[in-house]
Amino acid sequence: MADIELTGLSTVYPNGVRAVDGLDLSITDGEFFALLGPSGCGKTTLLRTIAGLEQSAEGTIVLGEKDVTRVDAGKRGVAMVFQDYALFPHMTVAQNISYPLRVRRASKQAQQDAATSTSAGLGLSELLERRPAQLSGGQQQRVALARAITMSAEVLLLDEPLSNLDARLRLEARTFLKRLQRDLGLTTVFVTHDQAEALALADRIAVMAEGRIRQLGTPKEVFQRPADTFVANFIGSTPMNLLTGTYRDGLVEVAGTRLAPPGDLTLTDGTPVVAGIRPEYLHPASDGITGTVSIVENLGVTSLVTLECPGEVLVGLTVPEQDEPAVGTTMTAAPAKGRLLVYDGETNQLV
Ligand code: ATP
Repeated sequence: MADIELTGLSTVYPNGVRAVDGLDLSITDGEFFALLGPSGCGKTTLLRTIAGLEQSAEGTIVLGEKDVTRVDAGKRGVAMVFQDYALFPHMTVAQNISYPLRVRRASKQAQQDAATSTSAGLGLSELLERRPAQLSGGQQQRVALARAITMSAEVLLLDEPLSNLDARLRLEARTFLKRLQRDLGLTTVFVTHDQAEALALADRIAVMAEGRIRQLGTPKEVFQRPADTFVANFIGSTPMNLLTGTYRDGLVEVAGTRLAPPGDLTLTDGTPVVAGIRPEYLHPASDGITGTVSIVENLGVTSLVTLECPGEVLVGLTVPEQDEPAVGTTMTAAPAKGRLLVYDGETNQLV
C-alpha cells in the first residue's frame, strides 16, 4: 500500500486549460479519499494525472517511496476503474477479471485462481461465464472492481464508480465499496460530484474548484465548518442558507434581526458578513428571523418550510409533519445554539 504525495501539480491541456492548477495534496496509506466538486473543476483530470493517463506540466507525484511523475501509466502500481467500467465486451467475466494476469503472462492456473477467488468475494461466482452485455450495471461495476483488484495495485483510483447505477443499487454499492476498501486496506481515491456520496464514504474529502482545492477535511469538518461560501453552498442535500448581513456590537444583523455568533469574532463594527445557516440546524423559535411561509414540502415524517424574510429567502426549515404551517402564515426560526457560521462579506472566508 502507499501514500500519495502531490506537490505543486499542474495539468494543462493543449488548448491551454489548466485543469489542475498548482495542487498540493497528501493522501495517507489505506485512506479512502474523495475528490469532490462541480462539473469541470478538474477532478477527473487530477485522477488521470495520478494514473499517468495525462502528463503533468509541473510538480511531482510520489506514490509510496517512488517518484512516478515521469513513469508510464502501466508501471505506476495504480489501478483505475472508469465511469463506464471499460470492460472488454468480447471477454467473459472470468477473462475480464484475470486480464491483468494474462498481460503479465501468468500461468493459466494463476489466472483461473485469481478469477475464482476475487469473484467469490464480490458475489460474482455465478456469473463467470457471462459477457458484460449480459450483466446489470451493478454487476458490471463489481467486475470492473474485481479486475482492478487482480492488478494487485497499491493505489485504487475510481472515477464516479457509482454514477451508472440507479438510486437503490447506488446505496447498496456504496456500502459494498466501503466494506471492500476497508477489508483490502487499499489507498483509494474516488471522484464524485455527489456530495452525499463523498460524505458517506470518505475518510477525508478535498472539495475542488477551478483546478484547486478549496477545502480539505473529514466529512464532519467539511459539512459543519465549510471554509468558504463556495464549499458551504456545495455541501449539503439542501444548500446552506447564506444571508447578507452586517457585524455590529458582537452580533450579526441579518434579515431584520440580530443573531449571536458562537464565540467572539475579531471583526470591526460595520463589517459586511454572510450568515451561514444549515437547514438541518434551523428550527422554529420564539426569537429569530421572522418571515412568511411561502412553500411547504411534505416529506412524510417531516415537512420542509420556505420562509420569505426581509430581503432574504430562508429554505429548509424542518418541522414535524403534524405541525406543518399553512402557506401565508408567519413563522420565526433561528439556528441551533453554536450553529451560526459567519463568513467575511468580501473574502467569503469563514471568520
Ligand atoms: P466532470 O464532473 O464533468 O467530469 P471534472 O471535475 O472531472 O468534471 P475535468 O473533466 O477534469 O473536470 O475537466 C476540467 C477542465 O478541463 C474543464 O474545463 C474541461 O473542459 C477541461 N478538459 C477536460 N478534458 C479536456 C481535454 N481532453 N482537452 C481540453 N480540455 C479538457
